This record gives sequence, structure tokens and C-alpha cells, in this order.
Amino acid sequence: MGLLDNKTALVTGAARGIGRAVAETLAREGADLVLCDLNKEWLADTDKAVSQLGRRTLCLAADVSQAPSVQETVDQAIGAFGRLDILVNNAGITKDNFLIRMSEADWDAVLSVNLKGVYLFTKATVKYMMKERAGNIVNVASIVGLIGNIGQCNYSASKAGVIGFTKSAAKEFASRNIRVNAVAPGFIETKMTEKLPEEIRRKMLNAIPMGRFGSPQNVSNVVLFLASDLSAYMTGQVLTVCGGMVM
Ligand code: NAP
Repeated sequence: MGLLDNKTALVTGAARGIGRAVAETLAREGADLVLCDLNKEWLADTDKAVSQLGRRTLCLAADVSQAPSVQETVDQAIGAFGRLDILVNNAGITKDNFLIRMSEADWDAVLSVNLKGVYLFTKATVKYMMKERAGNIVNVASIVGLIGNIGQCNYSASKAGVIGFTKSAAKEFASRNIRVNAVAPGFIETKMTEKLPEEIRRKMLNAIPMGRFGSPQNVSNVVLFLASDLSAYMTGQVLTVCGGMVM
């Protein structure tokens, strides 16, 4: 028996990195998966891995920052599976620069995907969950939303926003048996961090008490905890997964 037998989960940004690891981890525990990313073709690898675990999948192209795209995705998911028990708001982008050089376009892009995307997907999904009087939402924030980071005013503001959103939504929906929590990863080896210069990576490594970067699986294990009944009496919480960078 899996922790998520008979559950359906929707994961945004599921094509690679943390989103892909989350999809596979939830599938391993019995969940059927709605996989979303900007481009449907990019989901092929995740789709294959989840299907090989014997779970049903539905791959959908969705831009989390566009309201019509989000609503259509949620409608299609419920149409196909008849239920939506878990939402993992994972899609995110960076457009790093020092604030004095940060363009308005880069500010808007990061806030639109990382924060507005969480608002849009949660709003569209929670309407269904409220009727069911059950649901579980996990938002992927970041430790920089807690402690800040040079060159990431847009990104850290978006992730601090996700943390505030998580707590407010948790209070709003607790009486409907819908839990909302967040995971705040530190430095995780994915395509997002791959592009950072070697010098920054070295500095980061020195700041991690455990002395190593994290893996997508390190994060997806905590998402599983929050998405399952293992955390049944927790809501509005932010769990850091960062090798001790924040304590
Ligand atoms: P990643 O490897 O870049 O994967 C993110 C995925 O989201 C990509 O497939 C990306 O597609 C997709 N995406 C981007 N914009 C989207 C949109 N508008 N609508 C739908 N999907 C979109 O990043 P990751 O490292 O796995 O990050 C996943 C989450 O963890 C993000 O929220 C990130 O902020 C957070 N996080 C990561 C780290 C880390 O160290 N890696 C640390 C803290 C928090 P594209 O190919 O178009 O980009």
C-alpha cells in the first residue's frame, strides 16, 4: 500500500528538476499524475517514468502565469480523472541581476510565474477542493524568501510572497479540510542552478553546513511528507531543505 493510493496530484513545472522528482516520488506512492509544463513535448521523460511505475498520467501544456491556461488545465484534469487531491505549485524561474540593473520586464516575469502562478493555480484548484471538503496544496518556495540573496530581489520577493500566500491560504481553507504548506529548498542541483558561475557555486558550498548541494529527490521526499497524511496535523508551515543553511 502506498501513502497516496487513489489520489490524483497535479504538478506544475514537471518536465525536469524538482518538479520531475516530485512527480515520480508521488507516483511511487500510488498517485495518478497530471503533469504540466510550458511545452507538452518536454514532459515526455517524466510521463514515461511515471507510467513505468504503473500510474495514470495526463500531460498538459500550461503557462502558470496565464489565467485562461490555468483554468483550462484544471478543468481538463478534473474531466480526465474525476478528482484532484493534491496540487504542487512547483514551476519557477530566475532572472537574476543587481537591483540597479534589474529591468521592469525581469521583475514582472519572475513575479508573474513564481507568485501569480501560485495564486492562479491555487484559486482554480481550491474551488473544486472546497466542494470535496478535502485537499492538499504544497508550494515550492525557497530559502531566499526567508533570508534574501544578492542579485535576487525579484526572486526572493516572489518566494517571500509564496510563503505569505501559503500562510494566508492555510488559514482561509483549514476549516474545509484543505491543508496548504510550503517547502523552501536551499541550493539544489538542477538546470536552474547549473547556470550559476563557478565562483558563486563555491561560495554557496562554503555556506552549507552539510558541505554539499541538495538533489531534487531531497526536496521531493519532503513534498511527499507534506502531501500525504504523514503531516495530517500540519498546515501553514514552511519546511526548509537546505543542508542547514537556515536554522
Ligand atoms: P528548473 O529545472 O528550471 O525547472 C522548472 C520547470 O518549470 C521547467 O521545466 C520550466 O520550463 C518550468 N516553467 C517555467 N516557467 C513556467 C511557466 N510559466 N509555466 C509552467 N512551467 C514553467 O527548476 P528547478 O530547480 O527544478 O525549480 C523548481 C522550483 O524549485 C522552482 O519554483 C524554483 O524556484 C524552486 N527552487 C529551486 C531551487 C534550486 O536550487 N534549484 C532552490 C529553491 C527553490 P522551462 O524549461 O521553460 O524553464
